[in-house]
Amino acid sequence: MHSDIRVCSAWREAHDRPVYTLTSTCPACGSDAVNSAPARFDPADPHGEYRRALKRRDRE
Ligand SMILES: [Zn+2]
Repeated sequence: MHSDIRVCSAWREAHDRPVYTLTSTCPACGSDAVNSAPARFDPADPHGEYRRALKRRDRE
């Protein structure tokens, strides 16, 4: 049985540290909460572009 702990997908912008939750949305800011396990690459993932944008910004 795997863990259903999720993490706020926008915590880098909205919080000082990752916000974990068991619900599908962040209780603090209302953003989508995503599985805390490393996300596998999926070109059809509607949130993939957002994640890649975050990653790109982290490098700059
Ligand atoms: Zn949040």
